[in-house]
Amino acid sequence: MARALIPLAKEAGLPSCWAQEEGAQEEGALDDGALDDGAQENGAEASPGIGMEREDRLALIVAVARAVIAHEGELTRLDQAIGDGDHGVNMRRGFEAVLHEADALAELGTAAALEAIGYLLVNRIGGAAGPLYGTLALSMGRHGGNAQTLDDWILAFGQAIEDVKRRGKSEGGQKTLLDVFVPVHAVLVEKGAGAVAQLARIAEDAAEATRPMRALRGRAAFLGDRSVGHVDPGARSASLILGVIGRVLCGEN
Ligand SMILES: [Mg+2]
Repeated sequence: MARALIPLAKEAGLPSCWAQEEGAQEEGALDDGALDDGAQENGAEASPGIGMEREDRLALIVAVARAVIAHEGELTRLDQAIGDGDHGVNMRRGFEAVLHEADALAELGTAAALEAIGYLLVNRIGGAAGPLYGTLALSMGRHGGNAQTLDDWILAFGQAIEDVKRRGKSEGGQKTLLDVFVPVHAVLVEKGAGAVAQLARIAEDAAEATRPMRALRGRAAFLGDRSVGHVDPGARSASLILGVIGRVLCGEN
């Protein structure tokens, strides 16, 4: 097993990044009235650094790219139901380009690598998803230039989400990839490192929650009520990517 990039286990009294039980942080935080002070003292709320080295970036880039490529069929089926069926092919094409450049990307610092990935995704994914995923990666790279801790990256993630909203002229609740990014970001802000171990489940639940939504943006919006009952393909690809990132940060891949 690869080393965990978020060394939270020992200080937080957790057996491993994955093994944290839901609610464990809340129980500790509710012990007395001094919520913030108590949390800082026991270390559970302190933002851990992410010690990304070249091989860590390479592992992360390769794992995300391979997962997206492996799920082409699922993304295609979801987009065939409520879109034009090209999301699987588009995402595969974009992440094949990322995989092809993985070694060179990993040589860059994490923020610079994200910017470079953003350009690749804008140019290679195409469709509606290209500019959105491209903006997310590019913006995270730009806002994360000095990021060192998990909190710094969560802040950059939030700023990047705002840029994606502007780019897509969209908000959460409209059955798009934002319906995964926005709630996952909110949980990360609330729970910090404690949420990373659960990132896959949180993101998958958020994607599943797009099923009963009526699409208000994107091609699916033309379907109106017929978009109800299907998971949004962009929300699913977003949950896939976030889930892999959570696993790699915890040393699972
Ligand atoms: Mg499409």
